Amino acid sequence: MALFRRRKKSEDEAQVTKVRLRDRLARTSNGFSQSLRLAFGGTGNEAMWQGIEDALLLADVGLEATQSLVAATKKEVGRSASAAEVTSALRAKIVDLLSSHDEEISETTSEGPAVILVVGVNGTGKTTSTGKLAQRFVGEGQKVVLGAADTFRAAAADQLATWAERTGALLVRGADQGDPAAVAFDAVKTGVDSGADVVLLDTAGRLHTKSGLMDELGKVRRVVERTLPISEVLLVLDATTGQNAVVQAREFAAAVHVTGIVLTKLDGTAKGGVVIAIQQALGIPVKFIGIGEGADDLIDFDAEEFADALFSQTTI
Ligand code: GDP
Ligand code: MG
Repeated sequence: MALFRRRKKSEDEAQVTKVRLRDRLARTSNGFSQSLRLAFGGTGNEAMWQGIEDALLLADVGLEATQSLVAATKKEVGRSASAAEVTSALRAKIVDLLSSHDEEISETTSEGPAVILVVGVNGTGKTTSTGKLAQRFVGEGQKVVLGAADTFRAAAADQLATWAERTGALLVRGADQGDPAAVAFDAVKTGVDSGADVVLLDTAGRLHTKSGLMDELGKVRRVVERTLPISEVLLVLDATTGQNAVVQAREFAAAVHVTGIVLTKLDGTAKGGVVIAIQQALGIPVKFIGIGEGADDLIDFDAEEFADALFSQTTI
């Protein structure tokens, strides 16, 4: 089955997404456009490039990606280009960088249900994103099982239970403080027995030590893989944490084979440029972005749509 294949949008749908993303990304794009205006309003060429660098850094694009974007833009337009030329070249470089992993958006085919493991630090939006994904898959006519493998807090399983009720997905949960790997195993077994298309496994994000958390994820993975291969490991990162999200991403990527990133809370932050930093630093595709708390507020990440929203307040 094709897991995350991007559905071709109709023109109307594309327009709706565009407007919605512009709206939700407004805090980032406002800040970005203001700093760009400052850059272009300054005196002298050096000051302009410095100002562009500042605009990117303020949006949390990160030092490495900022420097490489500015260098590539400079190279393309030459040093005495107009503001409009610079803006359009910068936008194109951002789209290039953000779409460099597009081909990795998987079209996983698997025998039996596809298994998606959702990992990340506490509070980043794992359970919510798992619920939103369930909503999406069910909406596409797929049969979904949710595994509540965060057994540390009863509230986490209750939260997932609410999503199961809302979406019509099956829920598998274990005893509080029980073994997360056992829940994952049961969820996968339920998926197979019930002829499900997708099993989504929500995991815990906090243990006493970082190595404890990584060991636990490793165990979940091994136990699941006795029955089925894992199709996707989605790392959930919170955009409001800015460069900290990049640090988390590096740590997780070193410990588990992350196949895609879900970047949440882009609606509540001026640090939306972090999506560029993450893409640059990790080379792992950002597959979904969270733009609100509602069930349909998880959308495919699309480089063009993102750049459109980022530059939407720029009037040059
Ligand atoms: P978990 O600990 O990683 O499972 O995080 P939760 O799924 O419980 O989410 C933590 C909080 O973030 C909740 O209040 C969610 O409603 C909120 N949240 C998750 N995704 C988004 C998003 O894209 N936008 C906004 N504004 N809030 C989000
Ligand atoms: Mg949770």
